[in-house]
Amino acid sequence: MTAHAHACTDPKHHVHDGPAFVDAVERACRDRRLRLTPIRASVLGLIAEAEQPIKAYDLLDRVREGDGPGAAAPPTVYRALDFLLANGFIHKLQSVNAFVACHHPSTAQHSVPFLICDSCHAAVELEDSKIVAALDERARELGFTPRAQTLEVHGTCAECAAESTGA
Ligand SMILES: [Zn+2]
Ligand SMILES: [Zn+2]
Repeated sequence: MTAHAHACTDPKHHVHDGPAFVDAVERACRDRRLRLTPIRASVLGLIAEAEQPIKAYDLLDRVREGDGPGAAAPPTVYRALDFLLANGFIHKLQSVNAFVACHHPSTAQHSVPFLICDSCHAAVELEDSKIVAALDERARELGFTPRAQTLEVHGTCAECAAESTGA
């Protein structure tokens, strides 16, 4: 496993592997009285195991390769995605139309800026609540009631930058 697949700006919340992540979400679900059904758990596991943000059709392919026949139906997978998104266990990256596991599954649904590398496609949550709060505040000053924020910064990650300069 490469280090930057799960690169995280908060090492305390680092999630290292798929099964451990699913376990963490199972605990969070119990605490929050949510139900992590088998299809929800398997979709979550596939997203957590993916080295990069994963697109819905890749996810459908992998579900089809894996579980029982009932689990393969696309609407079932989309409903599982909706549940995982709504409860903050995964994030959707709008600019690349793909899903990533959230690094702090015990937190409820939250807005977080993402740094997306255009070379290796790694996506890192930039955990800085000040950024989200500042945007929220500016919006409210203009009489705008914010509902959701999508902040995605594209560029080159440190690892890819080092590779391209031969450092
Ligand atoms: Zn998150
Ligand atoms: Zn990169």
